[in-house]
Parts: sequence; structure tokens; C-alpha cells
Amino acid sequence: MSYASLHAARRARLAAALPEHGVAAVLVTWPVNVRYLTGLSSSNAAVLVGAEGQAMLATDSRYAETAQRQCRDVEVIVDRDVAGALLARAGAAGGLAVEADHMTVAMFGRLGERLGGDPSARLTPVSGLVEAVRAVKDEQEIDALRRACAITDEAFSQVVERIAPGVTEREIARWLEVRMTELGADKPAFDSIVASGPNGSIPHHAPSDRRIRSGDLVTIDFGARYGGYHADMTRTVAVGRPAAWQRDLYELVRQAQQAGCLAVRPGATAHEVDAAARGVIERAGHAEHFEHGLGHGVGLEIHEQPFLGPDRTGRLEDRVPITVEPGVYLPGRGGVRIEDTLVTRDDGPELLTLTTKELLIL
Ligand code: ZN
Ligand code: ZN
Repeated sequence: MSYASLHAARRARLAAALPEHGVAAVLVTWPVNVRYLTGLSSSNAAVLVGAEGQAMLATDSRYAETAQRQCRDVEVIVDRDVAGALLARAGAAGGLAVEADHMTVAMFGRLGERLGGDPSARLTPVSGLVEAVRAVKDEQEIDALRRACAITDEAFSQVVERIAPGVTEREIARWLEVRMTELGADKPAFDSIVASGPNGSIPHHAPSDRRIRSGDLVTIDFGARYGGYHADMTRTVAVGRPAAWQRDLYELVRQAQQAGCLAVRPGATAHEVDAAARGVIERAGHAEHFEHGLGHGVGLEIHEQPFLGPDRTGRLEDRVPITVEPGVYLPGRGGVRIEDTLVTRDDGPELLTLTTKELLIL
């Protein structure tokens, strides 16, 4: 599929979702969503997609030439006020959806003024419209994600050899980030987490100057971004000979993670995948030591639909990249988390992060 028809196909899927919201078009202003629908990566652009999938793209002069080169199948309007320019051209007859999660109250009011008064008479704020379309990936997106995960695996294999007593959490994080960039990543997918020893009980610990000691478990949560797509992987390693409780904790989380991965399939509900992993941890008496959700979608954003958790609704579809990341966190002692990025497939999930889940003893 050509570059242009790829984005046209995405816009057609979005257009098909418009009637259920009672609107004839949608004004997309969130940069990630504009990129998804047109290919244009910018900090100031908007796209208006109509019920037939027809589209108009607005951006300012900084991105105009890129837009005209890359987005040949859409009309490009050059104006700094991207949303206003699209509204002026297209109007809001038939009802116009706007992105409730991203449009500011000020912008909503201003667009309403352009329409001559009460914005809610013509504009319909809708949550998660493009995000729901984005949850199911095309193969080009999965290829980018597979590459992001391969870079992540390779960076880990090179850096893990350097983890030893005396190095700091911040050093490990920096080594990973440098290696990922050298291996072709756009940049790190998010701020890396390196949590050693007692810091391991904090799920989102920021790397500190703490030096690794023999006897530590070290949890490393990081990923590469490639072609705009975000990989996400966590491994917990042991430095020096692990104590019995550390081995037991690791084995428990490994089994929970495996159970979660096995539950990832098209048709599974978000809470049943969560329950498959959480049940293993609960039966071991650690329910209160695993308080976060089991996983999240990844794509053009590091956290995106769908989300896996006890209170989450909805079913997985085919070709949905998702993380499975149970953890057990023991305050004052440490913790273990293991996370993979995988993709739902009709014939069983495709694992994208391939680093071993055997306990590595360094
Ligand atoms: Zn992660
Ligand atoms: Zn994650």
C-alpha cells in the first residue's frame, strides 16, 4: 500500500465512526492524531475529515512545504490559526466533532464565536474518537514497532553486561539511552526507569545516584522510539547471588506475566487479561503489592488505548500492540516487574520484545 493510500485508509476508518456520534465531520487538532491521519509530523496542524473520508489539512508556514510534499492526497491550507482556517472553509453544517480530550476550553469558545455564538450548538466534543481507530494497527505500524522493540532488546543485551556493583542507576539509564540512539532510535520512548535494591518497590522510580550493590534486584523499564512508534520493556535482574525471597518473588512475577501473555487474544476483555495475571499474584498473597493496571496499548504514544486493568472495559481486537507488565512491590525491600510488548493475532500473540525472562544473575 502506498504512503498516501495508507493514510486514506485510516481516514476512511475514522469516517466510518462518525455517524454513531451524529456528526458529518471531525476536526482533529491533536498533533499525534494529525500525524496518524496524514503523515505530517508537526507541532501545529489540524485536519478536518468528512463522512466520505475526504480531508483538508491546515498547518503554518514552517511545515507548509513538508505537508505539500508528503500529503499529496489532501488539500493543504497554510494558516497559523489551523483550526479556525478549517472551520472557515468547511463550516460545521451537519455537526462537527472536536477532540474533547485535547481541545482547550479557550479554543472551544473561540471556534464557537466563529460559528456565531453558542459553541455546543454546532460542535460536539467526543472523547477517544481517533484513539479508538488507532488501537488497531496496520502492518506498517507493527513493522515500526517491531524495529523499536528490536533496538530495545539489542540495547539491553549490550548494557546489561556493564551492570555491576558500584555503577549508579543514572549511569545505566544513560547507557541505555545512548545505545538506543546509536542503534537508530528516534529517541528514548520515555524517561527510563532504573530502580535498584529498596528503590525497586517504587513502580516509577526516577534513576538516582544510588550505587548498585551486590544482593540488589534491579528493575529496568525503558524502550526505544522508532519511526514515531514506542517500545516498552521491563526486566528485573539480580546483582550477585539472589536470596531465596528474591528468587521466589521473581518466579511469581514471571508466572503472572506468562499467564497474562497467554490471555492476550482477539476477543478477550481488558479485565480478563488483567485477571489472568493478577490472579497468580493474589493467590500468592500479594494482592496489595500489585496496585497498577496490567498493561496498555503502545503506538504513536507510549500509553494509549486499550488499557488492561480490573476496571477496564472493552475487548481486544486483532493487531493491537499491548504491554503485559505485572509487578510485585514490597515497601522497604524491593520489587520485581517484567514487561513485554506484544501484538494480538488471531493465531496467538506475536511477542515483539524478545529478551529472555530467565532471571539474569550478574
Ligand atoms: Zn514500561
Ligand atoms: Zn508499560
